[in-house]
Amino acid sequence: MIPFLDLRLAYRELGDAIDAATQRVLRSGWFILGPETERFEAEFANFCEARFAIGVGNGLDALVLSLRALGIGPGDEVITSGHTFVATWIAIEQVGATVVPVEPTLDGYGIDTDLVAAKITGRTRAILPVHLYGTPIDLNRLLAIGEQYGLPVIEDAAQAHGARLDGKRIGGGATMACWSFYPSKNLGAMGDGGAVTTNNEELAERVRLLRNYGAQMKYDSVPHGVNSRLDPLQAAILSVKLEHLDEWNDRRRAIAAIYDRELYGTELGLPATPDRTEPVWHLYVVTTSKRDALRNVLSQAGIETGLHYPLAPHDQKRFAHLRDAYGGLPRSRTLADTVLSLPIGPHLPEEDAYRVAETVKTALRGI
Ligand SMILES: *Cc1c(COP(=O)(O)O)cnc(C)c1O
Repeated sequence: MIPFLDLRLAYRELGDAIDAATQRVLRSGWFILGPETERFEAEFANFCEARFAIGVGNGLDALVLSLRALGIGPGDEVITSGHTFVATWIAIEQVGATVVPVEPTLDGYGIDTDLVAAKITGRTRAILPVHLYGTPIDLNRLLAIGEQYGLPVIEDAAQAHGARLDGKRIGGGATMACWSFYPSKNLGAMGDGGAVTTNNEELAERVRLLRNYGAQMKYDSVPHGVNSRLDPLQAAILSVKLEHLDEWNDRRRAIAAIYDRELYGTELGLPATPDRTEPVWHLYVVTTSKRDALRNVLSQAGIETGLHYPLAPHDQKRFAHLRDAYGGLPRSRTLADTVLSLPIGPHLPEEDAYRVAETVKTALRGI
């Protein structure tokens, strides 16, 4: 049996350090925000080469609070990817703004930057790209468009902890970057968690307010404040794991390199690594029209795979009201029908990656 991802193995590797960190918090009697959260925020900002990091409750809230900090709400439009985890769209909807989706590129998974400018209207208030599967999109191009039209660029970086573009970490290059520490992410908590990074002091301060009831002085709250705080227990665990993130991302790279090499020349569409990017392989996603059959054979061979994601956001019930308006988004739909995520993670033995690749190759000959 090769699991898609076994989250127990992180604790097996770092158990002693995680035990010490959690004990420290439990004994401290300080369970909301405070020094442990602040310490992790400083470490994470530093890691992301950004000036500020603000810990929040989860990745969705990181996106929502960033949009709110920018004053985006009803009547506004936000341009984002047609192919993403649905939380990106939900965040835009949650602040009352309208999702304006852009198709992914034909040969990749990220937003097609050539199509962005045509979507800009008088109501557009932000561009929200996603570094999907851990591969940075062409941020420079989007920043240039943003500059030309006076639009902020908010990065959904929930799958890209540690990734680099032009040698610089994702996290400090745009207006704001939004992070999730959901357990399966490259930097995962043991529970929920999230963060916003930015170089803009005013925006950092606004997110810091909004995550804590919008209360500058206790009991005098500003509009839209919520309770969405990264707790010190998760922050302490994240501090331990952050020290290992680069090494764990290297292990993911080694797995991706095995798949790249072993699956080259097959009929599968393999993930591209764009120039000037250093992906962190949150997921290793191939495409094939025989997706379901291949997935079945792998499953029978004891190899677990994933689908990220089997339904485009505009085909999900929640966004049914937008389906027609978006003209079908054929590329996003095709990806939903053809993507297959192979097992990958910092604890997947390399032998297992070879076995996955061999099984895939044998399966493709028979289906
Ligand atoms: C995980 C994820 C989110 C949401 O994160 P949560 O912590 O689950 O709220 C948002 N966007 C993308 C691309 C994600 O992968």
